[in-house]
Amino acid sequence: MLLAALLFGTSLATTAQTAHPHHHTTHYRTTATRPPPSTGPKVYVCSGGSAYAYHNYESCSGLNRCTHTVNAVTVAEAEGMGRRACRKCY
Ligand SMILES: [Zn+2]
Repeated sequence: MLLAALLFGTSLATTAQTAHPHHHTTHYRTTATRPPPSTGPKVYVCSGGSAYAYHNYESCSGLNRCTHTVNAVTVAEAEGMGRRACRKCY
C-alpha cells in the first residue's frame, strides 16, 4: 500500500515523462515536406548562362572553365536555378 501510494504520487510529479510511451504507432512526417535549412551544405555554381551544373568542389575542372562569377549556394537553391549535379565531382 505504501509503495502504491508512493508510485502514484511519483507518477503525478512526472506526468510529462510517463505520458509518452514508446509505441510504434507514432509516425514522423517531417522528413519529406520540411524545406531544407538555408544553412545546408554549399555547392558551387557558375553564374554564366551556359552553365548547367552545380559542383561539390570549388576546384572542379568543370567550374574552372567558368568565366563568370562562382556562387556558393545550397543544393536546393542550385536545383531551383535548374542546375544538375556535376558528373565530375559527384
Ligand atoms: Zn563539378
